[in-house]
Amino acid sequence: MKVLLRGLTLACGVCGSRTLFRKWGMFAMVDDCPRCGLHFERMDGHSLGAVAVNTMTSSALVLTVVALALVIIGTDASTSTLLLLAAPAGLIFPILFDPVSRTLWNAIELLMRPPQANEIREEFRHIKVR
Ligand SMILES: [Zn+2]
Repeated sequence: MKVLLRGLTLACGVCGSRTLFRKWGMFAMVDDCPRCGLHFERMDGHSLGAVAVNTMTSSALVLTVVALALVIIGTDASTSTLLLLAAPAGLIFPILFDPVSRTLWNAIELLMRPPQANEIREEFRHIKVR
């Protein structure tokens, strides 16, 4: 659970470092954790998991907005009204959620495949990722 909380708060899942993004723009993630040295792109195609996390979360948000609109307005709500309500959630949220989706995916991936000793600096090798 600790590693997932770290992922949700833009921190490294191994050491908790919060300096994973460059100063200009939350969308430029560093390649390696500056504290523990974990290389975030742990295998080819690793970032596709972050895209999947972002897509699933954004889709769930859009569906929630539409469902709430149908409950509040009623089932006679027009399609254009539903689109106007759901579009911001579907267009803006995925952009804002992108940094979180990357660190969250990294945390999920660390739980599925704990880091090997050669992936992190020696002083962090005793940490159990949970
Ligand atoms: Zn780290």
